[in-house]
Amino acid sequence: MPYLRVALDVPLPRLFDYRLDVATAADIGRRVVVPFGTRRLVGVVLEMVEQPAYDVAAIKTAEAVLDDMPTLPAGLLDLFRFCADYYQHPIGQVLHTALPTRFRDPNVFRVAEALHYRAVDVATLLASLPRQAALKLRLAQLLATPRNEAEIRAAGSTAWKTVQVWLDAGLVVAQVQQTVMPSAAVGPPLNDEQAHAVAAITAATGFAAFLVHGITGSGKTEVYLNAIAATLARGQQALVLVPEINLTPQLEGRFRQRFPGVDIVSLNSSVAEGERAAGWVRAARGEAGIVLGTRLAVFTPAPRLGLIVVDEEHDASFKQHDGLRYSARDVAVYRARQAGVPIVLGSATPALESWQNAEAGRYRRLQLTQRAVAGALPPTLHLLSTKRQPLSDGMHARTLAAIGERLARGEQSLVFLNRRGYAPVMHCSECGWMAACTRCSARLTVHLRERQLRCHHCGAEDRLPRVCPGCGNQDMKPLGQGTQRLEDMLAEHFPAARVLRIDRDSTRRKGSFETALKAVHACEVDILVGTQMLAKGHDFPNLTLVAVIGADNGLYSANFRASERLYAQLAQVAGRAGRADKPGEVLLQTDFPEHPLYQALLADDYAFFAAGELAERKLAGFPPFLYQAVLRAEANQLAEALAYLSQAANLAPQSDAVTVWDPVAASMMRLANRERGQLLVQSTARTRLMAFLTEWMAALRAQKPGKVRWALDVDPLEL
Ligand code: ADP
Ligand code: ZN
Ligand code: ZN
Repeated sequence: MPYLRVALDVPLPRLFDYRLDVATAADIGRRVVVPFGTRRLVGVVLEMVEQPAYDVAAIKTAEAVLDDMPTLPAGLLDLFRFCADYYQHPIGQVLHTALPTRFRDPNVFRVAEALHYRAVDVATLLASLPRQAALKLRLAQLLATPRNEAEIRAAGSTAWKTVQVWLDAGLVVAQVQQTVMPSAAVGPPLNDEQAHAVAAITAATGFAAFLVHGITGSGKTEVYLNAIAATLARGQQALVLVPEINLTPQLEGRFRQRFPGVDIVSLNSSVAEGERAAGWVRAARGEAGIVLGTRLAVFTPAPRLGLIVVDEEHDASFKQHDGLRYSARDVAVYRARQAGVPIVLGSATPALESWQNAEAGRYRRLQLTQRAVAGALPPTLHLLSTKRQPLSDGMHARTLAAIGERLARGEQSLVFLNRRGYAPVMHCSECGWMAACTRCSARLTVHLRERQLRCHHCGAEDRLPRVCPGCGNQDMKPLGQGTQRLEDMLAEHFPAARVLRIDRDSTRRKGSFETALKAVHACEVDILVGTQMLAKGHDFPNLTLVAVIGADNGLYSANFRASERLYAQLAQVAGRAGRADKPGEVLLQTDFPEHPLYQALLADDYAFFAAGELAERKLAGFPPFLYQAVLRAEANQLAEALAYLSQAANLAPQSDAVTVWDPVAASMMRLANRERGQLLVQSTARTRLMAFLTEWMAALRAQKPGKVRWALDVDPLEL
């Protein structure tokens, strides 16, 4: 009798054996409910063996194998194994990260198969129409061929109800149908660069990685849509990953409009759990043509997968920062290779890792250099030197004048400052006291509206003190500038203007972000003040000026990725200006106008910027020229965390290919009352590093657990 080897959501990197009376190989990839200690757990059957790994007498019997979820295909199980090995994460926990929450529950969750509806006989249906209202006529014609619910609903607001009535009357039948030839609506005719890119992608047979490098508005999304249309036409599925903040209703709407007959599954944090599980199942059954989602969607089963797209592939939100610390972009590349399908990575400012892959010929670069809409020009950028310039509340005179011009013309301006709150510091000039978080190594931000001091790291809040806690001084001043202060200052300077601030504070209520965006679109706003929330994915046709304040903060950071991020952010926010027929202008206030980063931005020359950065990284020994992993530890006291890391370093296997650095405090040492240390290991040889990590983690896991919490982060983005 065979034994099931089951992956369970427990922090041990192994499988667990169970007995089942009627187990068959078909159970591999299925959900199973098993006893575990005193609990009932849901696992996934990964293997079937004749001989269990341990004493037969100790092996318990599985309760049941569930058949509510389609069997996970072998390829996907391979992907999970790859993640477990690569990220050194227990296989059961990898699986449970990937599965929708509903399937982590021992209860059965059934998803009805997608039904298609068609008229039994169009002539009879037409004859039966009492009044041939336009809608009914249209519906009757539509139903000559099988249609899914989405297509029917798209026909009119009462269409779905009408079809239900016909269904009850037997005039329409419902049937399970998995393969409808999807049709794509026609998009704009492609320009030469786009056509070249689409041709290259659709010509790929088997695995190929493409890096679509195109400025904002150059028509990257059009390239994806065309490549996806070709994929669907071949009867295959497409998986599209986007950063959370970019998955706007507009983008989803654009997909639905282009592919009216296609089941598009949307997977992200705002989709309710049941719906997410249902979408997952439809993708697993091959019914869904397109899966459009955030990083988690990379694990969606798709038996007919034909294409993967990762939009804004440089975006840091593709990396998960807890649990399974995976990079959805990297996992997507692995998945494409394993499935033998092309993958398209797109960005205006590719990650330097991806850029280097293109330089080395591993990825094929496809360039889009023009704005796609005829006559639309990229914005012109001006660097405004703030060195030895009298500023009015942090604003350059030319910035204020430019905003004034927009107001006079009835156009919109965006003032970009990536720092929310009123001011970053509350300071006493008498004794030097500064408001600091008691739980973190960080200052508290002044929120004047709420009369509070807030920690932006742990969320702690405190009343704004009237007098200095250090010396009793009654005249304390907020130092520096945040979006609230900017908003006040602009409202004062332009009393007739309608100023709207959009940041995480102003959009806390559900739906308020959407409401704010609508107000901008309806031109009910003259001046927008915003953080990076506004930098991405939003298209404001009447916005012709972007003013950037405080960008210099990102120039001289200790983090070697800071300039790459700054460039990406500035390019992105600059791209908001002048999308339609009105030319846009970008003003960037800086103390360092000669800085190479700004000069590259000025020339809109990402290649130049990337070459410079990569040369520096090569010289200094940073990724992508070597591979890193960091062991993080946290405890009540830093000393404990560091002691743990020293011990861990002593347990590290000897390897001439791997450098083990000394334990150090994390750059943000204290966070929410926990103190944190880290230990960096690196190597120029990926496979040697992997072997080292496997051995090292086994040694660390064999230790008795202590008070220190630790975790390994492979390919860390933050150090
Ligand atoms: P990106 O994703 O690179 O920012 P989009 O694909 O969203 O660019 O295109 C920007 C705008 O240009 C959109 O409004 C899109 O409809 C339009 N567009 C894209 N390609 C073309 C084209 N070939 N002809 C006309 N308009 C286009
Ligand atoms: Zn004081
Ligand atoms: Zn704090």
